[in-house]
Amino acid sequence: MIKEAIIRYLRKQGHERLNPKAVLFDMDGVLYDSMRFHARSWMSIARTYHLDATPEDFYLFEGQTGENTINELFLRTFHRNATTEEKKNLYEEKTRLFKQMNDGTPMPGAAAVLEKVKTSGAQRLVVTGSGQRTLIDKLDHSYPGIFSPEKMVTAFDVKYGKPHPEPYLMGLEKAGVKANEAIVVENAPMGVEAGVAAGIFTIAVNTGPLKDEVLLEAGADLLFANMTELAENWDELIRFSRAITLAE
Ligand code: MG
Repeated sequence: MIKEAIIRYLRKQGHERLNPKAVLFDMDGVLYDSMRFHARSWMSIARTYHLDATPEDFYLFEGQTGENTINELFLRTFHRNATTEEKKNLYEEKTRLFKQMNDGTPMPGAAAVLEKVKTSGAQRLVVTGSGQRTLIDKLDHSYPGIFSPEKMVTAFDVKYGKPHPEPYLMGLEKAGVKANEAIVVENAPMGVEAGVAAGIFTIAVNTGPLKDEVLLEAGADLLFANMTELAENWDELIRFSRAITLAE
């Protein structure tokens, strides 16, 4: 499965080798078990403002900006765009609720993946749409010695956000590597789309309620049920990436 996935990626992108020197990690739903709190805080906003939404919507919307999510819900419910003020106010309220609910639980298996990546000598980067100022402190507390502040892409860095490739292209730039020298780890369909659009080998971990097909249709090169399964398969992934060279 891993071998075929690498060959398929190399053919599709026209590379000779996959040579992972950096791993770009999404944050919510990958490093932290936080998506349920995002869905819950969004559902609370939807109830307060009578917006049509289900919890699953917020797993599908994950990765795009909060303002885009609000606008989509306004279009669906009221058949009009949300005003700038509505977008700003509702997103502030959602962010406040999320902060109250979020308990900072690391994603099971993530620490094992990060240790394996560190041991294999590859850089670790975080590429997230989150805009928390204290993010690096939080990451350092959960995963000591794994990340550094200059190797992060957050909401403050990007103009577009996922599914646009910009965040992951910026991640490549910060790591100083090419697309075939990186791996993306994502849980959201739009995040997968962004990684694939940036030309990077993109691994989906399905840590939420969506069907596997949704992530595969978004273009995931490889799919695992969770981070523990990725950790268990990491050595094989590295072994195959070293062994496979496509003739030009
Ligand atoms: Mg995510």
